[in-house]
Amino acid sequence: MMTIFSPQLRSDLQEALIDWFNSHQRDLPWRRGYRPYEVWISEIMLQQTQMERGIEYFRRWLLEFPDIESLARADEDRVLKLWEGLGYYSRARNLHSCARILVDTCQGIIPADPALLIRLPGIGPYTAGAIASIAYNQDAPLVDGNVGRVFARLFKMEQQLSDPTCKKELWQLAEALLPQGRARAFNQGLMELGALICTPKNPRCAHCPLSHLCLAHQQGLTNDLPVPGRGPTILPIEMATGILCHQGRIFIQQRRTKDVWGNLWEFPGGKREGDEQPAQTVAREFMEETGLSVIVGHKITTVTHHYTRYRVTLHGFSCTLSSEQSNHSCMPILSAARDCGWVCLNALDNYAFPAGHRQLIEFIKKNK
Ligand code: SF4
Repeated sequence: MMTIFSPQLRSDLQEALIDWFNSHQRDLPWRRGYRPYEVWISEIMLQQTQMERGIEYFRRWLLEFPDIESLARADEDRVLKLWEGLGYYSRARNLHSCARILVDTCQGIIPADPALLIRLPGIGPYTAGAIASIAYNQDAPLVDGNVGRVFARLFKMEQQLSDPTCKKELWQLAEALLPQGRARAFNQGLMELGALICTPKNPRCAHCPLSHLCLAHQQGLTNDLPVPGRGPTILPIEMATGILCHQGRIFIQQRRTKDVWGNLWEFPGGKREGDEQPAQTVAREFMEETGLSVIVGHKITTVTHHYTRYRVTLHGFSCTLSSEQSNHSCMPILSAARDCGWVCLNALDNYAFPAGHRQLIEFIKKNK
């Protein structure tokens, strides 16, 4: 059911929100000139990333890839390296392929039309609306988690935000409320309000420019809205990996493009199977993935990290080639990777690794 509001409410809301945004917005690097390239990078980077961390990565990225042409020319390895630690690496790969498509087909100009933007890899309805409205001030609506929460409270929406009917209604609201010619300030105002004032817990209604219009505030429902959805179930998995050292160099392999963490580098290893001990997992995985017979030595450390809905416990072991293997070729036969190499410890910093493997490297460097 479409939320009904009067033209007066619409215009009060627009004015109050834009005034508030103009005087309270955070000073963010991409807001200084609203260059489409910077807005695009920031929007992709900030998905699933906290603001402070996003700013740090954004600044480093701009130093190396100041424009779409430099990004299009870059090696994918370097793109992944700059993304290392942000997770969801398909975002980096999509940015890279988008840059190449746009340089090849339209002189590197990022489209202003959401209908064109949405055809590009990695750009969905939210990102298309964000680039069109924030970079170009086009009359394009957008809905993200912050906007959904603000609308649910303002208009007392009593469905779960993930419900398809509710999602549709949120987009209709975002479009119906949008002031013509002022989408840049309005859309950012909604998101900024959600990030700074109308927060998931303990919204700061006393400081909210929309409190006089807000049904949840007036009816004491701010803690009940939005209606909570079922959170994702976190699944624990246990993995083991081996750091194989031979003649002062460490063996690493590059994951296949279509695999999870595609094109990132790693130490061979995998999931524990049945009742095997983590050290047995390492020996088995080495043989399966590389054909190398290794002796698994001491445990270096165990690290944990989160990957989508998994909590990964990763055991890292030191390994050497078995004497039988040392007497033969130590040339691996790769069955789970596209490339491999033997590199010294310091050179590992030149490669992008998934979070758990990077934690192992940092541990080894600190304790060597
Ligand atoms: S009054 Fe409170 S609940 Fe309503 S929009 Fe403002 S911060 Fe959110």
